Amino acid sequence: MTSTVPTAVEHADEQQPPITMFGPDFPYAYDDYLAHPAGIGQIPATEHGSEVVVIGGGLSGIVAAYELMKMGLKPVVHEADRIGGRLRTVGFEGCDPSLTAEMGAMRFPPSSTALQHYIDLAGLETRPFPNPLAEATPSTVVDLKGESHYAETVEDLPQVYRDVAAAWSRCLEEGADFSDMNRALRERDVPRIREIWARLVEQLDNQTFYGFLCDSEAFKSFRHREIFGQVGFGTGGWDTDFPNSILEILRVVYTEADDHHRGIVGGSQQLPLRLWEREPEKIVHWPYGTSLAALHPGGEPRPAVTRLHRTAGGGITVTDADGEIRTYRAAVFTAQSWMLLSKIACDDSLFPIDHWTAIERTHYMESSKLFVPVDRPFWLDKDPVTGRDTMSMTLTDRMTRGTYLLDDGPDRPAVICLSYTWCDDSLKWLPLSANERMEVMLKSLGEIYPGVDIRKHVIGSPVTVSWENEPYFMGAFKANLPGHYRYQRRLFTHFMQDRLPEDKRGIFLAGDDISWTAGWAEGAVQTALNAVWGVMHQFGGATDPTNPGPGDVYDEIAPVELPED
Ligand SMILES: Cc1cc2nc3c(=O)[nH]c(=O)nc-3n(C[C@H](O)[C@H](O)[C@H](O)COP(=O)(O)OP(=O)(O)OC[C@H]3O[C@@H](n4cnc5c(N)ncnc54)[C@H](O)[C@@H]3O)c2cc1C
Repeated sequence: MTSTVPTAVEHADEQQPPITMFGPDFPYAYDDYLAHPAGIGQIPATEHGSEVVVIGGGLSGIVAAYELMKMGLKPVVHEADRIGGRLRTVGFEGCDPSLTAEMGAMRFPPSSTALQHYIDLAGLETRPFPNPLAEATPSTVVDLKGESHYAETVEDLPQVYRDVAAAWSRCLEEGADFSDMNRALRERDVPRIREIWARLVEQLDNQTFYGFLCDSEAFKSFRHREIFGQVGFGTGGWDTDFPNSILEILRVVYTEADDHHRGIVGGSQQLPLRLWEREPEKIVHWPYGTSLAALHPGGEPRPAVTRLHRTAGGGITVTDADGEIRTYRAAVFTAQSWMLLSKIACDDSLFPIDHWTAIERTHYMESSKLFVPVDRPFWLDKDPVTGRDTMSMTLTDRMTRGTYLLDDGPDRPAVICLSYTWCDDSLKWLPLSANERMEVMLKSLGEIYPGVDIRKHVIGSPVTVSWENEPYFMGAFKANLPGHYRYQRRLFTHFMQDRLPEDKRGIFLAGDDISWTAGWAEGAVQTALNAVWGVMHQFGGATDPTNPGPGDVYDEIAPVELPED
């Protein structure tokens, strides 16, 4: 997601501290915690070598396993699909292997500072991502109701788009204290963040994104709401987010999750893959040169977990797809939590009933993408008549919604993301094969660029995904509906297990859908670190007093509680 329109406060002011994904729900400095020379915690030497099962080899599971290994524990990772999960980078059959497509996450905001810690650790490079109207994007076409506008900057768009931009700024300012929160986040002013957010959570938990717009004087015009939904904010419009809780949208805009995006050179899946192989310099108990790969027979994670139940003495017993049964004192569960309802046979006793309710009520967005490889970035050819690019990053209300042009230099093959969609727009593709999807997409784009023969540049078969149809995901990412705040709070705070009945401890939920900022890899990292803290605490460990962990300061910054009655 990214904003096509400027928000109320100018972001790129070098004089001010940067915005980071620091709250607003749980304003804890995960980035400082990770950077601290004292490390993130220790367990008693008597526990060294103890096994902890980590279910899911996506970013959250790999980060959790990596940190648990560094503490001297023995993570046993189970992965049903492939290491990386929703950081999934694929190639095109028969094409140069350097041509890749990001089927899940593809652009990362610099405000994801805990994520950035691991990107740096893995030695990966990033570069600006060609979002609509971004600096790195040569041109953008906005095509609505059959009318196209070519723009290099927002100034090139008709006045109505700027009016919509102004309405959105006003609406955020008036309805959500935008500048105030912006300042508080930059300054990491925890009491102020909590004060503003507590009020808004109470006021707005029952409100949809669309309702929030409608309630604003600034968005009285239906036409403005429509344009805003279709292209005004977001990479294919945010109208697919209209039914979601406005709190979800505020989290994104406050923390600039939608801004200044960068892609990972060579593909995002390299991040978990490199962490899997990485031999940490500082490691307790294990000999130097130990990696997660080295701790797993054959260098591979164990297969899918099929059953989870509790056994005597507080054991979490895991059965896997090979039929192997093993019992652990602690388990970290990082897959989408709907897996616990169907693909994995679970004991009711795994979680308190209120947590089960929260898991059942979790709401996921659907999302589809389709990419094709092309012979060269032909879109940069100038039209001899207009002097414009032949084709541009495209936002439209047609079936494709968002089209991204991804090149690696003028003389090399390139990739087009013909379409990236969410929710209903994603469901429209679900029953279609990759080739059927491509045909419809080429037709839509043909209407926008009648003189451009995209097909003649295609050098390989398309690759596509609909995350809602992936058996080990069942959806792209969580998006709370109105009234879901309490459920989210239960899941996020699950790592504070001293508050749970004794017979409900030992399994720790983590991952994107437990986080406050699902759909952003930062949340997968932050919740992994919470779970690591929880496991460390369970094993009798502690953090260095100079570097308190998320559980140590929990009471001071706990997410606001809404009444349950
Ligand atoms: C379409 C899309 C676009 C996105 N765009 C962005 C973006 O631009 N920027 C950004 O920062 N983030 C983005 N995200 C979000 C980002 O991809 C996630 O936050 C992150 O990858 C989630 O990591 P995770 O480990 O929490 O979950 P996952 O990656 O889902 O990992 C969970 C793992 O559990 C495995 N699993 C499932 N069931 C079992 C089982 N029974 N046994 C064992 N293993 C199991 C799965 O195979 C999976 O590998 C996007 C996600 C999607 C889907």
